[in-house]
Amino acid sequence: MKEEKKKIQNNFIVAAGLLALFILYTVAIMFVDVQPIGPQGSSVGFAEVNQYFHTLFGVNMLLYSITDWLSIAVLFIMFGFAMVGLVQLIKRKSLFRVDSSILVLGGAGYIGSHTVYELIAAGENVVVVDNLETGFRKAVHPDAQFYLGDIRDKAFIDSVFEKEDIDGVIHFAASSQVGESMKDPLKYYSNNLCGTEVLLESMVVHGIDKIVFSSTAATYGEPESIPILETDPTVPTNCYGETKLSMEKMFHWTSIAHNLRYVSLRYFNACGAHPNGKIGEAHNPETHLIPLILQVPNHQREYISIFGTDYDTKDGTCVRDYIHVNDLAQAHILAMNYLRNGGKSDIFNLGNGVGFTVKEVVETAREVTGHPIPAKEEARRAGDPSTLIASSGRAKGILGWKPQYADLRVIIETAWKWHQAHPHGYKAD
Ligand code: UDP
Repeated sequence: MKEEKKKIQNNFIVAAGLLALFILYTVAIMFVDVQPIGPQGSSVGFAEVNQYFHTLFGVNMLLYSITDWLSIAVLFIMFGFAMVGLVQLIKRKSLFRVDSSILVLGGAGYIGSHTVYELIAAGENVVVVDNLETGFRKAVHPDAQFYLGDIRDKAFIDSVFEKEDIDGVIHFAASSQVGESMKDPLKYYSNNLCGTEVLLESMVVHGIDKIVFSSTAATYGEPESIPILETDPTVPTNCYGETKLSMEKMFHWTSIAHNLRYVSLRYFNACGAHPNGKIGEAHNPETHLIPLILQVPNHQREYISIFGTDYDTKDGTCVRDYIHVNDLAQAHILAMNYLRNGGKSDIFNLGNGVGFTVKEVVETAREVTGHPIPAKEEARRAGDPSTLIASSGRAKGILGWKPQYADLRVIIETAWKWHQAHPHGYKAD
């Protein structure tokens, strides 16, 4: 916090000042004749300094005048402050570096909450802003500073930047359901675009110059070639993807006009849960494949619907690139550090580069859960592209990203652990 930082800096200044005075004073009484401070107001040299310390613990001290006592007291107070300053200095490694915070917008949501956990594990101070429309207060790490509010509220977002010492922003605060975006596009324009516009205005005014943005493969629309490269055409087929693409463009033009750099991370199919079992995926309504499949062994659903079996894929069902949420979280940390190290604005795909069909995902879930998981073949879901697989070579090469949970089985195991322990998400906790 800013006030706290100022207080600590003031202490440092006092301690450093006193340390300097202490050194000056010691040097002065050692090598210079100082009048009138010194035993009995006499000239003071090295021998007299020894005498000071000797007499401090001996009866002779009583013979000294009040000025001698005062000078001894001042000397020890200075020494005490100097030591405190030194200890703080060693502890913090640097005199004026008081850790600032990363502001995570939407830090109570699925990917946001996992990123907050990983940021805190990496030793960062984290401030979370969330309007809790789709996020959960219980998903916020207890060590994060939480503010309840909406990024469209300019006064609110300004107040956060004024209260907190923010080094950079990670932006997840957006609506993210494809189907809903087609039914209520203006909600997406309001939350995603207006929210980001207000945020950027406030960032520019407060001199915050780094932002990592949660984007999506939905910016590409129907891909022309697989795997998808960042340079491929972006022709979104739904309003959600359209608003995310517009947000990216807003960052682009703002970064040209102002002192701001951004990294946009285009995720493929986020899934899995934190291996600590404390946080996981909880959407209402749930529309994603893996949590829906796991509702069957969790006795919340009788079967899983397979949407479309006539796609041009190996078993006729859609192919997706499933990427673990903790790997996504790590990519945000790497992206923020990349910007801290002066990296230029850029866009990166995040996926494992391997595709699984819907039927393969269902089969893996059967193996993990030991449940037969009945499946029902149904018609295609509107707007589903047949195959989405990322090329993430740039994220690996430039950010140094190395996914740790690339195995689909491990991904489903982490999700299963979460859903078994929290069948109703955060609500029943
Ligand atoms: N899917 C399915 N049944 C479901 C939910 C999803 O067959 O109950 C399919 C969906 O058609 C898509 C894939 O699973 O091909 C992944 O869908 P999800 O909604 O998880 O992610 P998306 O790829 O749409 O972002």
